[in-house]
Amino acid sequence: MKTVKECIEDLRRCMTERVVKRVVIIPHISPDGDAAGACSALAEVMERLGVKWRILTCDYMPEYLRFLKHVPRLISYQDKPEDCRRLIAETDLIFMLDHNTTAREGDLEPFVREATAPRVIIDHHLEPDEEEVVISDTTVSSTCELLYTVITQIWGKGIVNADVANSLYAGINTDTGGLSHNSSRPETYRLVAELLEAGLDKAFVHEHLYQMNRLSRLRLLGYALLAKLKVTENYSLAIISLSKNELERFRFRDGDLEGLVNVPLTVRDVIVSVLVTERKDKVKLSFRSKGEVPVSEWTKRWFNGGGHLNAAGGQMELPLEEVVKLVEETAPVFFKEYAGIVKE
Ligand code: 5GP
Ligand code: MN
Repeated sequence: MKTVKECIEDLRRCMTERVVKRVVIIPHISPDGDAAGACSALAEVMERLGVKWRILTCDYMPEYLRFLKHVPRLISYQDKPEDCRRLIAETDLIFMLDHNTTAREGDLEPFVREATAPRVIIDHHLEPDEEEVVISDTTVSSTCELLYTVITQIWGKGIVNADVANSLYAGINTDTGGLSHNSSRPETYRLVAELLEAGLDKAFVHEHLYQMNRLSRLRLLGYALLAKLKVTENYSLAIISLSKNELERFRFRDGDLEGLVNVPLTVRDVIVSVLVTERKDKVKLSFRSKGEVPVSEWTKRWFNGGGHLNAAGGQMELPLEEVVKLVEETAPVFFKEYAGIVKE
């Protein structure tokens, strides 16, 4: 198997052996801080290299991530499907950031699959699809951490300016819950030190990530924890479910629930936390766990999903109550078969 370093060399070759004048950069559906940070950072790098870039999304970036320099310039399929189709068809290279398969690109997927341009995955999820270039490392904290290695190996540390640094740090910080999980490698901290040297404005990033809430968002989180959190009798599983009506009552916007699923894990005996939310045409599930409890196995087997050992997700086209019931019914099987935990 190729090393990450060799895969980065593949990208270098891909970008020098052919004419690359314009690139398309795509995050996963429902982009988070890591996906958005990586897109904005890579866009800035392309800009500095004189390569035309577009960030295309199948949906929208949440508002709290719009402070990242290039996020406001993204084009959403929801607003401009025809532009997205054309830009993907005409591009020289497609970057797939923070996801391992075109199946995580929502409505953009068919265009991406039809395109003749080679695809480049830069990601930290397990089992990436085969593409022209696959730079995948599941040991890193985040795609942003890996992207730093990619861009500095190819273009040198001088390519990292303050805007690149701010975007990468936003991804590293959010994907590790503020450096609390997936962040035990010394390299991650050396990298953050280098970002500071490159001009990272940590206070600016923190302020925008964590101190710009709307009051209605805080009320929604409070409501979810006070009125909607259920903990199973044996106290190992926490479930929060929120219907479309409830979300609307608190004027829900994308990103408002960011972080909520982690909160029940602060309770001593809770080992898995699940957030189930009713969206436009599907029900979305988010799973988090402590220790060696592989929630990605749970989402893969029963909820059309995937993810990491401690953070996974999925989606279902069933009524909300039925999805919650399925979580409850499959819990004993999951705990027994995948975590070795049997409780009466
Ligand atoms: P979140 O709960 O933050 O939406 O997702 C946590 C992780 O689970 C993500 O980093 C992603 O890897 C994975 N994930 C979330 N939703 C899905 C999904 O629908 N399909 C797959 N394959 N993975 C998902
Ligand atoms: Mn990520």
